[in-house]
Amino acid sequence: ASSAEEQPTSSAQGVENLVIIGSGPAGYTAAIYAARANLKPVVFEGFQVGGVPGGQLMTTTEVENFPGFPDGITGPDLMDRMRRQAERWGAELHQEDVEFIDVKNRPFTVQSSERKVNCHSIIYATGATAKRLGLPREDEFWSRGISACAICDGASPLFKSQVLAVVGGGDTATEEAVYLTKYARHVHLLVRRDQLRASKAMQDRVLNNPNITVHFNTEAVDVVSNTKGQMSGILVRKIDTNEESVLEVKGLFYGIGHSPNSQLLEGQVDLDSTGYVLVEEGSAKTSVDGLFAAGDVQDHEWRQAVTAAGSGCIAALSVERYLTSEN
Ligand code: FAD
Repeated sequence: ASSAEEQPTSSAQGVENLVIIGSGPAGYTAAIYAARANLKPVVFEGFQVGGVPGGQLMTTTEVENFPGFPDGITGPDLMDRMRRQAERWGAELHQEDVEFIDVKNRPFTVQSSERKVNCHSIIYATGATAKRLGLPREDEFWSRGISACAICDGASPLFKSQVLAVVGGGDTATEEAVYLTKYARHVHLLVRRDQLRASKAMQDRVLNNPNITVHFNTEAVDVVSNTKGQMSGILVRKIDTNEESVLEVKGLFYGIGHSPNSQLLEGQVDLDSTGYVLVEEGSAKTSVDGLFAAGDVQDHEWRQAVTAAGSGCIAALSVERYLTSEN
């Protein structure tokens, strides 16, 4: 095992083997594997989520489903461990946002406000951002009553056996609502339109579930709290009548979708209609040779830390294979 001190750093003029963009579970896992394979990866960690590296998990408290931590671990602690593991094996970390990428010319170019790096391969792991409603008290209650991930938070003591609300009318929201009925006392689904957009099968599951009440033409206006400052309900408005009322719930789940952070690749690589980077099934390969994608930016379905980490591993091993085949 070599330490970070013993590893050569990237040369200013040379062409690097690999640049990794992103510091979530996908980016750091790719960095650990690539550094251990002696590829000396250069990692642009970014600070787009909460102004710090580490990605989405920096915005949460307990992570209870990442293997290896039977008592749970906080999101920031988990990400700090991944970061240190990548650093220990010699990944070169820069806390900078990438502002420009060119994958049309060889070598590729990656540029931040501080530096420009030429490289033979890129792992693009910039994650996705859960869409928010922008409620006035949203920041105050984010991770303290408001969540964007039922699988992550549904079983937590904050929500277990409580009455909860889910916002949205598509597949994400309906799946979240059905999932939450495993733990919650009752689930209210708030749908802005007069119908659900979800698949027919999901609509049936929701509409036939006695533990879910669907409120059509209804939008969340704000969080209501009790004297202890805890969420006690949601102020909701009927869109057709403008009538406002308080729905007593202890948690609000957003199921209104995610935006993949793929802007830097627009026009250079194949994206799907919603902006997710398209990869070959079961692989990290994109439509551009040498450009690999990992984590939530290419995964609109599972969106878990462990799946992001797994895809980061696949991407790094793919890069290793790619660079070997190129030489
Ligand atoms: P992200 O974690 O989104 O990281 C992306 C990284 O890319 C960030 O570091 C960002 O700064 C960086 N980046 C973006 N643009 C640029 C740029 N231009 N230049 C440089 N860097 C850039 N999953 C679980 O498995 N268990 C949980 O308990 C759980 N809880 C969650 C709680 C919350 C509140 C949220 C929001 C998500 C939760 N998730 C959980 C989901 C999990 O966080 C994500 O699936 C996972 O973080 C995705 O990892 P990623 O590496 O793809 O991307």
